Amino acid sequence: MSEALTEEAPLAAERILELLPDPVLVVRGAPADPAIAYANAAARELFRMELVGAPVGAALRHPAVLEAIDHGGPAEVAFETIGVQPRFWRAFLRPLGERELTLVLRDETDARRTERMRADFLANASHELRTPLASLAGFVETLQTHAKDDPGARDRFLAIMAEQAGRMSRLIDDLLSLSRIELNEHVPPSGEVDLAHVAGDVLDATRPLAVQRGVAVEFAAAPDLPRIAGDHDQLVQVAQNLIDNALKYSARGQAVSVCLEAAPTLEAARAPTREGGVALSLLSPDAGEPAGYAVLRIADRGRGIARQHLPRLAERFYRVEGQKSGGTGLGLAIVKHVVNRHRGGLVVESAEGEGTTFSVYLPAASA
Ligand code: ADP
Repeated sequence: MSEALTEEAPLAAERILELLPDPVLVVRGAPADPAIAYANAAARELFRMELVGAPVGAALRHPAVLEAIDHGGPAEVAFETIGVQPRFWRAFLRPLGERELTLVLRDETDARRTERMRADFLANASHELRTPLASLAGFVETLQTHAKDDPGARDRFLAIMAEQAGRMSRLIDDLLSLSRIELNEHVPPSGEVDLAHVAGDVLDATRPLAVQRGVAVEFAAAPDLPRIAGDHDQLVQVAQNLIDNALKYSARGQAVSVCLEAAPTLEAARAPTREGGVALSLLSPDAGEPAGYAVLRIADRGRGIARQHLPRLAERFYRVEGQKSGGTGLGLAIVKHVVNRHRGGLVVESAEGEGTTFSVYLPAASA
């Protein structure tokens, strides 16, 4: 019994090593002349060279890793590889026997990227909140000192302060909404929604803004529009953000069109609708073959968006330079995450000076 174990154990161990997703090397002969004695499949895939028998420095050129191998003791070394795409690695070294050690490499690029995004996001969010806060604090001080006895100035400043406080509160609402959406982004919505109702509700709610901006809104819904599996409140947010933007970025006297169409295929759903514009998909659904799509298109004839800005529109806090809209820069990020939860897609088409169309397509509910 024990004989069978000793015979089979190394074989089983090697087969397990082969199956590991992380590259594993065994290095022998350190510090004098360290060479690779074993490399698993993930390591061979990574280095794409004849590894067994090669000096370790031929595969791993990073000085800190080579130094740790020379040392021979247990160690962890973080290092970076440069190439078309830089990658971040961590090498785990463990002595195996006399002048022999194992080296496991872990790719930490994705973790680093996430960490970076989190830090950027916090920095951006703090910056966005600090701007209106600094303005509020400034006006409070002015009201306490220079403008103390000037009723005209006081009214003017209070109006600006109310506006800044409103801005902070919109930001916080959008941040909370985004984090709620992200929390359940992987849970498909369970309700069934008629987009015509959603659009109708939003159009009622945005009428005052349309009147105030002097922009007409045209609405059309196809009679064969399929119902979709969706979350009514989240889809209201989608339509609300897109219609708000269309109104905000239109000039007085222009018209915005909101239309709902049925599209039998993915191709039809994301086909361009504007001539002479640039179309870009900001989000595409993963494979899947629903029984058609419902498409919500919101087109304005406003100033449009220059081509170079299109790919970044749905990033948090991204705004086209020089536009003072009073917006939070989070609207399209919210749209993108909700649409992603619904396994749908988002396309933007724009021509500078002619206007912009956003199309959201959502898979039809299965019958
Ligand atoms: P905001 O709250 O600033 O509107 P969004 O995320 O909704 O943030 O939009 C991001 C940016 O995209 C806006 O700041 C604006 O520069 C641009 N944008 C969005 N919609 C339109 C549109 N219909 N026409 C022109 N520019 C737009």
